[in-house]
Amino acid sequence: MTDLNKLTIAEARDALRKGETTSVALTESCLAAIDGAGALGAFVHRTPELALERARAADARIAAGDAPDMCGIPVGIKDLFCTEGVNSQAASRILEGFKPEYESTVSGQLKDAGAVMLGKLNMDEFAMGSSNETSVYGNAVNPWKARNGDELLTPGGSSGGSASAVAADLCLAATGTDTGGSIRQPAAFTGTVGLKPTYGRCSRWGIVAFASSLDQAGPMTKTVRDAAIMGRAMMGHDPKDSTSADLAVPDFEAMLTGDIRGKVIGIPKEYRMDGMPEEIEKLWHQGAEMLKDAGAEIRDISLPHTKYALPTYYVIAPAEASSNLARYDGVRFGHRAKLSQGDGITEMYEKTRAEGFGAEVKRRVMVGTYVLSAGFYDAYYNRARKVRALIKKDFDDVFAAGVDSILTPATPSAAFALGKEVSDPVEMYLNDVFTVTVNLAGLPGIAVPAGLDASGLPLGLQLIGRPWEEGDLLNTAYALENAAGFVAKPAKWW
Ligand code: GLN
Repeated sequence: MTDLNKLTIAEARDALRKGETTSVALTESCLAAIDGAGALGAFVHRTPELALERARAADARIAAGDAPDMCGIPVGIKDLFCTEGVNSQAASRILEGFKPEYESTVSGQLKDAGAVMLGKLNMDEFAMGSSNETSVYGNAVNPWKARNGDELLTPGGSSGGSASAVAADLCLAATGTDTGGSIRQPAAFTGTVGLKPTYGRCSRWGIVAFASSLDQAGPMTKTVRDAAIMGRAMMGHDPKDSTSADLAVPDFEAMLTGDIRGKVIGIPKEYRMDGMPEEIEKLWHQGAEMLKDAGAEIRDISLPHTKYALPTYYVIAPAEASSNLARYDGVRFGHRAKLSQGDGITEMYEKTRAEGFGAEVKRRVMVGTYVLSAGFYDAYYNRARKVRALIKKDFDDVFAAGVDSILTPATPSAAFALGKEVSDPVEMYLNDVFTVTVNLAGLPGIAVPAGLDASGLPLGLQLIGRPWEEGDLLNTAYALENAAGFVAKPAKWW
Protein backbone atom coordinates (compact mmCIF):
# COMPACT_ATOMS: atom_id res chain seq x y z
CA MET A 1 0.00 0.00 0.00
CA THR A 2 1.29 3.46 -0.85
CA ASP A 3 0.41 6.85 0.56
CA LEU A 4 -0.83 5.35 3.79
CA ASN A 5 -1.12 8.85 5.27
CA LYS A 6 -3.92 9.55 2.79
CA LEU A 7 -6.18 6.84 4.18
CA THR A 8 -9.30 7.56 6.19
CA ILE A 9 -9.66 6.11 9.67
CA ALA A 10 -12.17 3.55 8.39
CA GLU A 11 -9.90 2.45 5.54
CA ALA A 12 -6.86 2.17 7.80
CA ARG A 13 -8.81 0.30 10.48
CA ASP A 14 -10.04 -2.23 7.95
CA ALA A 15 -6.58 -2.64 6.41
CA LEU A 16 -5.03 -3.11 9.86
CA ARG A 17 -7.54 -5.77 10.77
CA LYS A 18 -6.96 -7.64 7.53
CA GLY A 19 -3.22 -7.49 8.09
CA GLU A 20 -2.72 -5.47 4.90
CA THR A 21 -0.70 -2.86 6.72
CA THR A 22 0.68 -2.09 10.16
CA SER A 23 0.36 0.83 12.51
CA VAL A 24 4.12 1.29 12.29
CA ALA A 25 3.86 1.67 8.50
CA LEU A 26 0.95 4.10 8.83
CA THR A 27 2.82 6.09 11.47
CA GLU A 28 6.04 6.23 9.43
CA SER A 29 4.09 7.46 6.44
CA CYS A 30 2.52 10.27 8.49
CA LEU A 31 5.84 11.18 10.12
CA ALA A 32 7.42 11.52 6.66
CA ALA A 33 4.51 13.69 5.51
CA ILE A 34 4.91 15.88 8.60
CA ASP A 35 8.66 16.22 7.95
CA GLY A 36 7.91 17.46 4.46
CA ALA A 37 5.24 19.93 5.53
CA GLY A 38 7.09 22.42 7.71
CA ALA A 39 5.69 25.22 5.52
CA LEU A 40 2.20 24.49 6.82
CA GLY A 41 3.14 25.17 10.45
CA ALA A 42 0.60 22.56 11.54
CA PHE A 43 2.59 20.41 13.98
CA VAL A 44 4.30 22.46 16.68
CA HIS A 45 5.64 19.66 18.89
CA ARG A 46 6.49 16.37 17.23
CA THR A 47 6.69 13.11 19.13
CA PRO A 48 8.06 10.60 16.60
CA GLU A 49 9.66 8.21 19.10
CA LEU A 50 6.59 8.11 21.27
CA ALA A 51 4.46 7.60 18.15
CA LEU A 52 6.50 4.63 16.95
CA GLU A 53 6.46 3.11 20.42
CA ARG A 54 2.67 3.38 20.53
CA ALA A 55 2.39 2.09 16.97
CA ARG A 56 4.37 -1.03 17.89
CA ALA A 57 2.12 -1.55 20.91
CA ALA A 58 -0.95 -1.12 18.70
CA ASP A 59 0.35 -3.68 16.21
CA ALA A 60 0.83 -6.14 19.07
CA ARG A 61 -2.71 -5.50 20.25
CA ILE A 62 -4.15 -5.97 16.77
CA ALA A 63 -2.17 -9.20 16.36
CA ALA A 64 -3.67 -10.40 19.64
CA GLY A 65 -7.16 -9.73 18.30
CA ASP A 66 -7.82 -6.76 20.58
CA ALA A 67 -8.41 -3.96 18.14
CA PRO A 68 -10.77 -1.12 19.03
CA ASP A 69 -11.61 1.07 16.02
CA MET A 70 -8.95 3.69 16.80
CA CYS A 71 -6.23 1.12 17.51
CA GLY A 72 -3.11 1.92 15.48
CA ILE A 73 -4.57 5.08 13.90
CA PRO A 74 -2.08 8.02 13.76
CA VAL A 75 -3.67 11.25 14.95
CA GLY A 76 -2.65 14.79 15.84
CA ILE A 77 -3.65 16.40 19.12
CA LYS A 78 -4.46 20.11 19.44
CA ASP A 79 -2.02 21.89 21.73
CA LEU A 80 -4.93 22.77 24.07
CA PHE A 81 -5.05 19.17 25.34
CA CYS A 82 -2.75 18.32 28.22
CA THR A 83 -0.67 15.32 27.22
CA GLU A 84 1.45 13.59 29.82
CA GLY A 85 5.13 14.46 29.58
CA VAL A 86 4.63 16.24 26.23
CA ASN A 87 4.63 20.04 25.79
CA SER A 88 1.12 21.42 26.13
CA GLN A 89 1.17 25.14 25.68
CA ALA A 90 -2.19 26.25 24.32
CA ALA A 91 -0.03 28.12 21.78
CA SER A 92 0.82 30.64 24.49
CA ARG A 93 4.13 31.95 25.72
CA ILE A 94 2.85 31.84 29.26
CA LEU A 95 2.82 28.02 29.16
CA GLU A 96 6.27 27.75 27.59
CA GLY A 97 7.96 24.56 28.71
CA PHE A 98 4.88 23.18 30.46
CA LYS A 99 4.82 19.38 30.37
CA PRO A 100 1.77 18.14 32.25
CA GLU A 101 1.99 15.29 34.73
CA TYR A 102 -1.36 14.07 33.47
CA GLU A 103 -3.27 13.28 30.31
CA SER A 104 -6.58 14.95 29.40
CA THR A 105 -9.51 12.55 29.56
CA VAL A 106 -10.22 12.83 25.83
CA SER A 107 -6.64 12.30 24.63
CA GLY A 108 -6.35 9.57 27.29
CA GLN A 109 -9.40 7.77 25.90
CA LEU A 110 -7.89 7.90 22.42
CA LYS A 111 -4.59 6.63 23.79
CA ASP A 112 -6.29 3.79 25.66
CA ALA A 113 -8.11 2.86 22.46
CA GLY A 114 -4.70 2.48 20.83
CA ALA A 115 -4.58 5.68 18.78
CA VAL A 116 -1.06 6.89 18.00
CA MET A 117 -0.27 10.53 18.81
CA LEU A 118 2.09 12.05 16.24
CA GLY A 119 2.51 15.34 18.07
CA LYS A 120 0.77 18.55 19.05
CA LEU A 121 -1.03 20.85 16.66
CA ASN A 122 -0.97 24.60 16.16
CA MET A 123 -3.91 26.75 17.23
CA ASP A 124 -4.81 30.29 18.23
CA GLU A 125 -3.48 31.28 21.64
CA PHE A 126 -5.83 29.81 24.28
CA ALA A 127 -8.18 29.01 21.36
CA MET A 128 -9.02 32.69 20.91
CA GLY A 129 -9.21 33.51 17.24
CA SER A 130 -10.55 32.46 13.86
CA SER A 131 -7.39 32.37 11.76
CA ASN A 132 -4.64 30.69 13.82
CA GLU A 133 -2.74 33.98 13.73
CA THR A 134 -2.67 34.61 17.48
CA SER A 135 -0.42 31.58 18.08
CA VAL A 136 2.95 32.04 19.76
CA TYR A 137 4.34 29.51 17.26
CA GLY A 138 3.33 31.65 14.27
CA ASN A 139 0.36 30.89 12.09
CA ALA A 140 -0.60 27.59 10.53
CA VAL A 141 -1.23 27.69 6.77
CA ASN A 142 -4.08 26.29 4.73
CA PRO A 143 -2.90 23.64 2.23
CA TRP A 144 -5.49 25.04 -0.19
CA LYS A 145 -4.66 27.96 -2.47
CA ALA A 146 -6.99 29.82 -4.81
CA ARG A 147 -6.78 28.53 -8.36
CA ASN A 148 -5.25 31.67 -9.77
CA GLY A 149 -3.48 32.98 -6.74
CA ASP A 150 -0.37 32.34 -4.77
CA GLU A 151 -1.46 34.00 -1.55
CA LEU A 152 -1.16 31.97 1.62
CA LEU A 153 -4.56 31.43 3.20
CA THR A 154 -5.64 30.85 6.76
CA PRO A 155 -6.74 27.33 7.69
CA GLY A 156 -9.20 29.03 10.06
CA GLY A 157 -9.06 28.96 13.81
CA SER A 158 -8.70 28.26 16.50
CA SER A 159 -8.08 24.59 15.49
CA GLY A 160 -6.11 25.72 12.42
CA GLY A 161 -3.24 23.27 12.85
CA SER A 162 -5.67 20.37 13.19
CA ALA A 163 -7.55 21.36 10.02
CA SER A 164 -4.39 21.97 8.01
CA ALA A 165 -2.86 18.65 9.12
CA VAL A 166 -5.97 16.62 8.24
CA ALA A 167 -6.51 18.37 4.89
CA ALA A 168 -2.84 17.87 3.93
CA ASP A 169 -2.87 14.19 5.00
CA LEU A 170 -0.24 14.68 7.69
CA CYS A 171 -2.37 12.52 9.98
CA LEU A 172 -5.53 10.50 9.54
CA ALA A 173 -7.50 12.71 11.92
CA ALA A 174 -7.04 15.24 14.71
CA THR A 175 -8.67 16.48 17.85
CA GLY A 176 -10.12 19.98 17.95
CA THR A 177 -12.01 22.09 20.42
CA ASP A 178 -14.91 24.40 19.72
CA THR A 179 -15.96 27.28 21.97
CA GLY A 180 -17.59 29.42 19.29
CA GLY A 181 -16.81 27.60 16.04
CA SER A 182 -13.20 26.50 16.29
CA ILE A 183 -13.83 22.99 14.97
CA ARG A 184 -16.44 23.82 12.34
CA GLN A 185 -14.96 26.98 10.79
CA PRO A 186 -11.48 25.50 10.17
CA ALA A 187 -13.08 22.32 8.84
CA ALA A 188 -15.12 24.40 6.38
CA PHE A 189 -12.00 26.36 5.31
CA THR A 190 -10.04 23.18 4.54
CA GLY A 191 -12.59 20.81 3.00
CA THR A 192 -12.66 18.55 6.06
CA VAL A 193 -15.34 17.38 8.48
CA GLY A 194 -15.59 18.86 11.99
CA LEU A 195 -18.01 17.70 14.67
CA LYS A 196 -18.77 19.73 17.79
CA PRO A 197 -20.65 17.37 20.10
CA THR A 198 -23.40 18.37 22.53
CA TYR A 199 -21.98 20.30 25.50
CA GLY A 200 -21.14 17.66 28.10
CA ARG A 201 -20.49 14.78 25.67
CA CYS A 202 -16.71 15.02 25.85
CA SER A 203 -14.99 15.58 29.14
CA ARG A 204 -13.28 18.96 29.51
CA TRP A 205 -10.88 17.55 32.10
CA GLY A 206 -7.27 18.26 31.17
CA ILE A 207 -8.16 20.58 28.29
CA VAL A 208 -6.87 24.10 28.93
CA ALA A 209 -10.02 26.08 29.71
CA PHE A 210 -11.09 29.05 27.60
CA ALA A 211 -14.81 29.58 28.32
CA SER A 212 -15.95 26.63 30.39
CA SER A 213 -19.68 26.84 29.67
CA LEU A 214 -19.01 26.76 25.91
CA ASP A 215 -15.85 24.63 25.42
CA GLN A 216 -16.30 21.25 23.81
CA ALA A 217 -13.81 18.86 22.21
CA GLY A 218 -14.54 16.98 19.00
CA PRO A 219 -13.04 15.11 16.05
CA MET A 220 -11.68 16.70 12.85
CA THR A 221 -11.60 14.12 10.09
CA LYS A 222 -11.60 13.45 6.36
CA THR A 223 -15.10 11.96 6.27
CA VAL A 224 -18.34 11.83 8.24
CA ARG A 225 -17.77 8.12 8.90
CA ASP A 226 -14.45 8.96 10.51
CA ALA A 227 -16.13 11.63 12.66
CA ALA A 228 -18.55 8.94 13.84
CA ILE A 229 -15.72 6.54 14.68
CA MET A 230 -13.37 9.00 16.35
CA GLY A 231 -16.17 10.98 18.02
CA ARG A 232 -17.40 7.87 19.79
CA ALA A 233 -13.90 7.16 21.11
CA MET A 234 -13.61 10.71 22.49
CA MET A 235 -16.98 10.87 24.24
CA GLY A 236 -18.34 9.43 27.46
CA HIS A 237 -18.97 10.20 31.08
CA ASP A 238 -16.10 11.43 33.22
CA PRO A 239 -16.57 11.93 36.96
CA LYS A 240 -13.68 14.42 36.87
CA ASP A 241 -15.82 16.90 34.88
CA SER A 242 -19.01 17.87 36.70
CA THR A 243 -20.63 18.99 33.42
CA SER A 244 -19.91 15.69 31.69
CA ALA A 245 -23.10 13.80 30.89
CA ASP A 246 -23.69 10.35 32.29
CA LEU A 247 -25.24 9.01 29.10
CA ALA A 248 -24.39 6.00 26.98
CA VAL A 249 -22.52 6.77 23.76
CA PRO A 250 -24.10 4.88 20.87
CA ASP A 251 -22.28 3.22 18.00
CA PHE A 252 -22.57 6.19 15.65
CA GLU A 253 -21.00 4.38 12.72
CA ALA A 254 -23.72 1.73 12.84
CA MET A 255 -26.26 4.56 12.57
CA LEU A 256 -24.87 5.75 9.21
CA THR A 257 -27.53 4.36 6.92
CA GLY A 258 -27.86 7.45 4.77
CA ASP A 259 -31.61 7.05 5.09
CA ILE A 260 -33.10 10.43 6.06
CA ARG A 261 -36.58 9.92 4.62
CA GLY A 262 -39.16 11.82 6.64
CA LYS A 263 -36.59 13.85 8.58
CA VAL A 264 -37.46 17.52 8.94
CA ILE A 265 -34.64 19.94 8.10
CA GLY A 266 -35.10 23.54 9.20
CA ILE A 267 -33.77 26.48 7.17
CA PRO A 268 -33.51 29.48 9.52
CA LYS A 269 -34.30 32.76 7.77
CA GLU A 270 -32.13 34.77 10.15
CA TYR A 271 -28.98 33.10 8.77
CA ARG A 272 -29.50 34.87 5.44
CA MET A 273 -27.07 37.70 6.11
CA ASP A 274 -26.69 40.96 4.24
CA GLY A 275 -23.64 40.92 2.06
CA MET A 276 -23.30 37.13 2.14
CA PRO A 277 -21.49 35.97 -1.02
CA GLU A 278 -23.88 34.62 -3.61
CA GLU A 279 -21.90 31.39 -3.81
CA ILE A 280 -22.61 30.63 -0.17
CA GLU A 281 -26.29 31.37 -0.58
CA LYS A 282 -26.33 29.10 -3.63
CA LEU A 283 -24.52 26.28 -1.89
CA TRP A 284 -26.93 26.50 1.04
CA HIS A 285 -29.84 26.22 -1.36
CA GLN A 286 -28.21 23.27 -3.14
CA GLY A 287 -27.62 21.56 0.20
CA ALA A 288 -31.30 21.85 1.03
CA GLU A 289 -32.19 20.42 -2.37
CA MET A 290 -29.85 17.47 -1.82
CA LEU A 291 -31.45 16.64 1.50
CA LYS A 292 -34.89 17.00 -0.06
CA ASP A 293 -33.92 14.64 -2.88
CA ALA A 294 -32.82 12.16 -0.22
CA GLY A 295 -36.33 12.23 1.18
CA ALA A 296 -36.20 14.89 3.90
CA GLU A 297 -38.80 17.58 4.36
CA ILE A 298 -37.37 21.10 4.11
CA ARG A 299 -39.07 23.60 6.38
CA ASP A 300 -38.52 27.38 6.72
CA ILE A 301 -37.98 28.22 10.37
CA SER A 302 -37.22 31.27 12.47
CA LEU A 303 -34.61 31.61 15.23
CA PRO A 304 -35.48 35.20 16.15
CA HIS A 305 -32.69 35.94 18.60
CA THR A 306 -29.88 35.00 16.21
CA LYS A 307 -28.80 38.61 15.72
CA TYR A 308 -27.86 38.86 19.40
CA ALA A 309 -25.66 35.76 19.35
CA LEU A 310 -22.32 37.37 18.47
CA PRO A 311 -22.54 40.19 21.04
CA THR A 312 -23.73 37.68 23.65
CA TYR A 313 -20.85 35.33 22.88
CA TYR A 314 -18.31 38.16 22.98
CA VAL A 315 -19.48 39.06 26.49
CA ILE A 316 -19.77 35.55 27.95
CA ALA A 317 -16.63 34.02 26.41
CA PRO A 318 -14.28 36.83 27.55
CA ALA A 319 -15.92 36.90 31.00
CA GLU A 320 -15.23 33.21 31.53
CA ALA A 321 -11.80 33.49 29.93
CA SER A 322 -10.74 36.31 32.26
CA SER A 323 -11.60 34.11 35.21
CA ASN A 324 -10.02 30.95 33.79
CA LEU A 325 -6.80 32.73 32.84
CA ALA A 326 -6.30 34.22 36.31
CA ARG A 327 -4.36 31.07 37.23
CA TYR A 328 -1.46 31.97 34.91
CA ASP A 329 0.53 34.00 37.37
CA GLY A 330 4.11 32.85 36.91
CA VAL A 331 3.93 30.62 39.97
CA ARG A 332 2.10 27.48 39.00
CA PHE A 333 2.70 26.95 35.29
CA GLY A 334 5.21 27.70 32.57
CA HIS A 335 6.80 31.06 31.99
CA ARG A 336 7.90 33.56 34.66
CA ALA A 337 9.28 37.01 33.79
CA LYS A 338 12.77 37.98 34.85
CA LEU A 339 12.46 40.31 37.80
CA SER A 340 14.44 43.37 38.78
CA GLN A 341 15.77 44.01 42.22
CA GLY A 342 13.06 45.31 44.47
CA ASP A 343 10.25 43.69 42.50
CA GLY A 344 7.62 42.07 44.70
CA ILE A 345 4.95 39.51 43.97
CA THR A 346 2.69 42.07 42.28
CA GLU A 347 5.43 43.02 39.82
CA MET A 348 6.08 39.34 39.22
CA TYR A 349 2.42 38.75 38.29
CA GLU A 350 2.24 41.88 36.18
CA LYS A 351 5.44 41.35 34.26
CA THR A 352 4.77 37.66 33.71
CA ARG A 353 1.26 38.25 32.38
CA ALA A 354 2.36 41.21 30.26
CA GLU A 355 5.09 39.10 28.65
CA GLY A 356 3.26 35.82 28.58
CA PHE A 357 -0.05 36.74 26.93
CA GLY A 358 -0.47 37.96 23.36
CA ALA A 359 -2.59 40.94 22.31
CA GLU A 360 -5.84 39.07 21.65
CA VAL A 361 -5.70 37.25 24.97
CA LYS A 362 -5.08 40.55 26.78
CA ARG A 363 -8.02 42.10 24.95
CA ARG A 364 -10.29 39.26 26.08
CA VAL A 365 -9.09 39.46 29.67
CA MET A 366 -9.75 43.21 29.70
CA VAL A 367 -13.20 42.88 28.14
CA GLY A 368 -13.98 40.01 30.50
CA THR A 369 -12.97 41.78 33.69
CA TYR A 370 -14.87 44.87 32.53
CA VAL A 371 -18.17 43.05 31.90
CA LEU A 372 -17.82 41.26 35.24
CA SER A 373 -16.93 44.40 37.23
CA ALA A 374 -19.36 45.50 39.95
CA GLY A 375 -20.61 48.53 38.02
CA PHE A 376 -21.26 46.74 34.73
CA TYR A 377 -22.14 43.19 35.72
CA ASP A 378 -25.89 43.64 35.30
CA ALA A 379 -25.62 45.72 32.15
CA TYR A 380 -23.38 43.23 30.32
CA TYR A 381 -22.77 39.83 31.84
CA ASN A 382 -26.19 39.28 33.37
CA ARG A 383 -27.94 40.66 30.30
CA ALA A 384 -25.88 38.34 28.09
CA ARG A 385 -26.87 35.34 30.21
CA LYS A 386 -30.54 36.21 29.76
CA VAL A 387 -30.17 36.62 26.00
CA ARG A 388 -28.31 33.31 25.91
CA ALA A 389 -31.35 31.63 27.45
CA LEU A 390 -33.54 33.17 24.72
CA ILE A 391 -31.19 31.93 22.00
CA LYS A 392 -31.42 28.44 23.45
CA LYS A 393 -35.21 28.70 23.65
CA ASP A 394 -35.36 29.53 19.92
CA PHE A 395 -33.78 26.14 19.23
CA ASP A 396 -35.91 24.33 21.83
CA ASP A 397 -39.02 25.72 20.13
CA VAL A 398 -38.15 24.55 16.63
CA PHE A 399 -37.10 21.11 17.85
CA ALA A 400 -40.37 20.86 19.80
CA ALA A 401 -42.21 21.73 16.57
CA GLY A 402 -40.73 18.63 14.94
CA VAL A 403 -37.52 19.87 13.30
CA ASP A 404 -34.79 17.19 13.40
CA SER A 405 -31.84 19.25 12.24
CA ILE A 406 -31.05 22.69 10.93
CA LEU A 407 -29.04 23.47 7.79
CA THR A 408 -26.96 26.66 7.55
CA PRO A 409 -23.76 27.80 5.90
CA ALA A 410 -20.74 27.01 8.07
CA THR A 411 -18.91 30.29 7.43
CA PRO A 412 -19.71 33.63 5.78
CA SER A 413 -16.81 33.22 3.31
CA ALA A 414 -14.19 30.79 2.03
CA ALA A 415 -10.70 30.86 3.62
CA PHE A 416 -9.26 34.38 3.59
CA ALA A 417 -5.67 35.51 3.18
CA LEU A 418 -3.34 35.41 6.17
CA GLY A 419 -2.79 38.88 7.56
CA LYS A 420 -6.01 40.19 6.09
CA GLU A 421 -8.28 40.42 9.11
CA VAL A 422 -5.86 40.24 11.96
CA SER A 423 -5.72 44.01 12.40
CA ASP A 424 -9.46 44.35 12.96
CA PRO A 425 -10.79 42.24 15.82
CA VAL A 426 -14.43 42.94 15.02
CA GLU A 427 -13.97 41.78 11.39
CA MET A 428 -12.44 38.62 12.82
CA TYR A 429 -15.31 38.09 15.28
CA LEU A 430 -17.82 38.21 12.39
CA ASN A 431 -16.41 34.89 11.16
CA ASP A 432 -18.27 33.14 13.96
CA VAL A 433 -21.70 34.41 13.03
CA PHE A 434 -23.11 30.99 12.04
CA THR A 435 -21.38 28.93 14.69
CA VAL A 436 -21.59 30.69 18.08
CA THR A 437 -25.35 30.13 18.47
CA VAL A 438 -24.68 26.40 18.66
CA ASN A 439 -22.24 26.78 21.56
CA LEU A 440 -24.50 29.22 23.39
CA ALA A 441 -27.30 26.64 23.16
CA GLY A 442 -25.02 23.67 23.93
CA LEU A 443 -26.09 21.80 20.78
CA PRO A 444 -24.19 19.42 18.48
CA GLY A 445 -23.10 20.85 15.13
CA ILE A 446 -21.12 19.52 12.21
CA ALA A 447 -19.41 21.12 9.22
CA VAL A 448 -19.44 19.07 6.02
CA PRO A 449 -17.52 20.05 2.87
CA ALA A 450 -20.12 20.66 0.18
CA GLY A 451 -18.53 22.47 -2.74
CA LEU A 452 -15.88 24.80 -4.12
CA ASP A 453 -16.16 28.54 -4.68
CA ALA A 454 -15.32 30.22 -7.99
CA SER A 455 -11.63 30.29 -7.09
CA GLY A 456 -11.57 26.60 -6.24
CA LEU A 457 -11.62 26.91 -2.44
CA PRO A 458 -13.70 24.60 -0.27
CA LEU A 459 -16.99 25.71 1.26
CA GLY A 460 -18.80 23.93 4.07
CA LEU A 461 -22.36 23.57 5.22
CA GLN A 462 -23.33 23.23 8.86
CA LEU A 463 -25.95 20.90 10.30
CA ILE A 464 -27.19 21.54 13.84
CA GLY A 465 -28.85 18.71 15.76
CA ARG A 466 -30.95 18.05 18.81
CA PRO A 467 -29.01 17.66 22.06
CA TRP A 468 -27.46 14.19 22.51
CA GLU A 469 -28.57 13.11 19.05
CA GLU A 470 -25.17 13.13 17.39
CA GLY A 471 -26.02 9.78 15.78
CA ASP A 472 -28.95 11.25 13.91
CA LEU A 473 -26.95 14.38 13.08
CA LEU A 474 -24.06 12.33 11.72
CA ASN A 475 -26.45 10.29 9.60
CA THR A 476 -27.94 13.45 8.07
CA ALA A 477 -24.40 14.75 7.50
CA TYR A 478 -23.57 11.42 5.86
CA ALA A 479 -26.50 11.80 3.47
CA LEU A 480 -25.35 15.33 2.64
CA GLU A 481 -21.77 14.17 2.15
CA ASN A 482 -22.90 11.42 -0.21
CA ALA A 483 -25.06 13.78 -2.23
CA ALA A 484 -22.46 16.57 -2.39
CA GLY A 485 -19.76 14.08 -3.44
CA PHE A 486 -16.94 16.40 -2.38
CA VAL A 487 -13.68 14.69 -3.34
CA ALA A 488 -11.38 17.61 -4.13
CA LYS A 489 -7.97 17.75 -2.50
CA PRO A 490 -5.52 20.65 -2.29
CA ALA A 491 -2.75 20.57 -4.91
CA LYS A 492 0.54 19.96 -3.11
CA TRP A 493 2.81 23.05 -3.04
CA TRP A 494 4.41 22.74 0.39
N1 GLN B 1 -13.32 32.42 16.96
C1 GLN B 1 -13.99 32.34 18.22
C2 GLN B 1 -13.23 33.11 19.25
O1 GLN B 1 -12.26 33.71 18.91
C3 GLN B 1 -14.20 30.92 18.62
C4 GLN B 1 -12.99 30.29 19.15
C5 GLN B 1 -13.22 28.87 19.59
O2 GLN B 1 -14.21 28.24 19.24
N2 GLN B 1 -12.30 28.39 20.40
O3 GLN B 1 -13.57 33.16 20.38
